[in-house]
Amino acid sequence: MALIVQKYGGTSVGTPERIQAVAERIVQTSQEGHQVVVVVSAMGKTTDSLVALSKAVTDTPPRREMDMLLSTGEQVSIALVSMAIQSLGQPAVSLTGGQVGILTEAEHGRARILHIDPNRLMHHIKAGRVVVVAGFQGVSSSRDLEITTLGRGGSDTSAVALAAALGADLCEIYTDVPGILTTDPRLVPEARVLNAITCEEMLELASLGAKVLHPRAVEIARNFGVPLVVRSSWTDEPGTEVRSPGPRTIPRQDIEMSRLVDGVEVDDQQVKVALRHVADRPGVAAHLFRALAKANINVDLIIQSIHAGNTNDIAFTVHRRDLARVTPLAHQVATELGGAEVDIDPQVAKVSIVGAGMIGRPGVASTMFSALGDAGINIQLISTSEIKVSCIIIAPDAPRAVGVLCQSFGVSCVASTPGETDGAPVRGVALDPRQAQMAILQVPDRPGAAGRLFLALAQARISVDMIIQSQRTTVTAGRVTRDIAFTLHEEDVPAAQQALEPVLQTLDCGPVVVNPSIAKVSIVGTGMVEKPGVAAQLFEALAAADINIQMIATSEIKVSCLVGADRGVAALQHIHQAFALE
Ligand code: ASP
Ligand code: MG
Repeated sequence: MALIVQKYGGTSVGTPERIQAVAERIVQTSQEGHQVVVVVSAMGKTTDSLVALSKAVTDTPPRREMDMLLSTGEQVSIALVSMAIQSLGQPAVSLTGGQVGILTEAEHGRARILHIDPNRLMHHIKAGRVVVVAGFQGVSSSRDLEITTLGRGGSDTSAVALAAALGADLCEIYTDVPGILTTDPRLVPEARVLNAITCEEMLELASLGAKVLHPRAVEIARNFGVPLVVRSSWTDEPGTEVRSPGPRTIPRQDIEMSRLVDGVEVDDQQVKVALRHVADRPGVAAHLFRALAKANINVDLIIQSIHAGNTNDIAFTVHRRDLARVTPLAHQVATELGGAEVDIDPQVAKVSIVGAGMIGRPGVASTMFSALGDAGINIQLISTSEIKVSCIIIAPDAPRAVGVLCQSFGVSCVASTPGETDGAPVRGVALDPRQAQMAILQVPDRPGAAGRLFLALAQARISVDMIIQSQRTTVTAGRVTRDIAFTLHEEDVPAAQQALEPVLQTLDCGPVVVNPSIAKVSIVGTGMVEKPGVAAQLFEALAAADINIQMIATSEIKVSCLVGADRGVAALQHIHQAFALE
């Protein structure tokens, strides 16, 4: 006998017939001898309709009343699902978030779950009842017991949090797709359902997977080692298993940590290699990284920022043990590419902050940059992914950098844990089709500059996606400068320009270059960590399709390339095929 939490999304309970079908599945699970807790979303598009209703009444609905309104959607479904279960002869009871004792912060509309008392539920379960819980809602832990909601898509979070609090054997997310796919099936019909994916990969594929499984739910599963499966409500296919590194010992009174960052990572055994002034045309990155792969040199970070004129700078890091081998090779490739200059710095460190809490929240990267700047530590390179920001600094600064970062985020230094590395090096490919790119040219190369710029953006509440600071340095009138580029929502560009204006003047930066139409393609997989040649294969796929790579940023388990917006879909298709993901 197992304790199973099953979550059914809005489409799965969208009509009376579907509710009956869901009830049958629940009763069947219970008849197999399992204890079942069910979490449901509001029927179909109910939440959207409620939002529309509020807008019809006022332009500025108070957040508290919005929660009062939106939480009713789930209350309708739990009652109906419970009735349907009982009509099949199975005892069941519906409970609101408050009745279950799902305690949250008092933040209306985006509350995080603080605590769930398992005893209230266990009492019903032990009496042989299926418990049907309203997703997406809770009550504030303050004396007023205010009704709160968790934010759109929050029922997944409710389900995984309940599974964590109950120590459930399994949490099943039933939805209208067969599981997590290798890529977007509307763009690549050959996309395939994955048998398994790790939580880290899932988070890095945020733009691909977030609609299927909310990132906050993935974070809880990862932190508590909840066995999690995403599968279809219409079939009996097994779906996709979402794997966590294993149970961690986090006190269960803090289900959703309010921390933005989980930990600080450091690797002070790196060598930085930069090829400067290579031609800005398809095939250059492919040539370089193919040569490294052939020599079996494992590349860690790869960074290419915006071109200057018709040339690019590409920088990468490798482990210090490869210094003797990478040096002649870099020079050889530079010659083959028509005389690029090579810079090698044998003593750099990579410091990173990691955490799912930074997804969609402005200000995390700027806090990191400012902390380093205040400590007088200069940032040479920056590369970001969904759940990580990495900076390359000089190796002797590493211990101090770790100290100030741990202090400013209130976390400790952790070993990098990319999880298991079995199977294919690349698990999925994602496309973010509509982004704009902004580049600030000639930012003074001194501690604190990046912090000031990104703080200004964060204060204007502008979410920045990818941040890249490349190797290129320019010396004008004895002053050393670097370019910093980032991507953001197209519609945020004017606000970003406005927010940056005063800082650009104080820092005496160069011009800002905007590219309004850019697409980001990314490959994700924990298996690429120890496997040379994965990035090379990606770059080759793009070169073969004659697609120019405009910028590159990486994390341990992700490589992202910016390409022209008109080439995004083609890039996605070629990459999916190149890695034989179909
Ligand atoms: N009903 C809520 C929404 O539509 C929560 C959920 O379905 O997960 O966002
Ligand atoms: Mg959902």
